Amino acid sequence: MVKRRVSILGSTGSIGCSTVDVISYLGGPETFDIVSLTAGSNAKKLAEQALILRPDVAVLSDESALEDLAALLAGSGIDVAAGDAALIEAAGRGADWVMSAIAGAAGLRPTLEVIRTGASLALANKESMVCAGPLVKAEADRMSVPILPVDSEHNAIFQVFDNTQREAIERLILTASGGPFRSFTLNEMRSVTPAQALAHPNWSMGDGISLDSATMFNKGLELIEAAHLFDMPSSKIEIVVHPQSVVHSMVAYCDGSVLAQMGSPDMRTPIANALGWPDRVETNVERLDFAKFSRLDFETPDETRFPALRIAREALEAGGLAPCAMNAAKEVAASAFVAKKIGFLDLAVIVEQVLNKINLPGKATDINDILAADCEARRIAAELIASGSYRQF
Ligand code: NAD
Ligand code: MG
Repeated sequence: MVKRRVSILGSTGSIGCSTVDVISYLGGPETFDIVSLTAGSNAKKLAEQALILRPDVAVLSDESALEDLAALLAGSGIDVAAGDAALIEAAGRGADWVMSAIAGAAGLRPTLEVIRTGASLALANKESMVCAGPLVKAEADRMSVPILPVDSEHNAIFQVFDNTQREAIERLILTASGGPFRSFTLNEMRSVTPAQALAHPNWSMGDGISLDSATMFNKGLELIEAAHLFDMPSSKIEIVVHPQSVVHSMVAYCDGSVLAQMGSPDMRTPIANALGWPDRVETNVERLDFAKFSRLDFETPDETRFPALRIAREALEAGGLAPCAMNAAKEVAASAFVAKKIGFLDLAVIVEQVLNKINLPGKATDINDILAADCEARRIAAELIASGSYRQF
């Protein structure tokens, strides 16, 4: 039997490692033909994974780490490369299925490159959809490429969204854990540290998304991602806080039925769902034991303590390049918070001020418009942070 050709972009990250795990559990190189593994700068981890999965090529975006990678893989027969062009080349090396799991807006160009080759796209990189949803979807339609959502909420909706009954769908319900500060007062949030913000109560994830969960910008990004992926207006997407992270999201139908997908909070389930689709493949994820949890709670999110939810909804409704600018400003503010240059509550203040200040063209016609908006939002955010003029007295 011909093996499926698969690649992982961002393989050393949280989603990348879980993907390596799912693939290894199914037999690794015995079952799959691994085409490319890519990472940012972690040569050691990438080499370790490459020796297990035996890809054709292992690529780092950071050129300064290439020498290390080459030394670690010397004599293995695995090609190595580094730099942005090599990363794009690796993304476009004709695989059947590619996991797009680079963190942040940096994942957009590789995602588009995957689609261009006609591979099935397993999409963890939500920023691709947030920054360029219409473009990504149009390219996927043009190439007849399926987009398989990996974000747990979107994968849940994907599993219970009946495309043949679109008119019968009343709303999507995105669940949110509420993050580590779910029950903090605004005053308590004012002085939280990066270490507190990066410690998620239910999920083990990369730093970027962990911090986004603390501010709830993550749920804001997911609102925008859902609107594009499922072609639903903002008014039909509800967010509900569900601290146990067992119900991963829901679809409500016109007869009053609500279909939910549940599972342990473990990304290997949505990854396996995307890998197996339209079939199902086995994982060794801990099975849900209903006797173990006595209750499932649901709460309305508080947009006063978590203004990111309001800002993201406004950006979605403004449309065009606003979500892209929001994400870019958020990435800059997040780095400043981690570097202890701004406080936790300043994050949303800065993002909102960038959106108020930035002059965006009405519509993105191509990737260059998107990259220009991203760049301009980063510039304004950096300026606000450097001058301190974002501070409200
Ligand atoms: P992470 O930070 O753990 O890993 C990111 C990966 O991308 C690493 O391999 C890193 O080396 C690589 N990378 C980072 N910057 C890069 C760059 N500029 N160029 C090339 N490679 C680069 O992130 P993660 O938590 O695995 O998240 C990855 C994506 O998946 C994000 O978009 C995130 O929002 C999304 N996601 C993650 C989770 C989760 O549970 N971790 C859940 C849902 C969605
Ligand atoms: Mg999610």
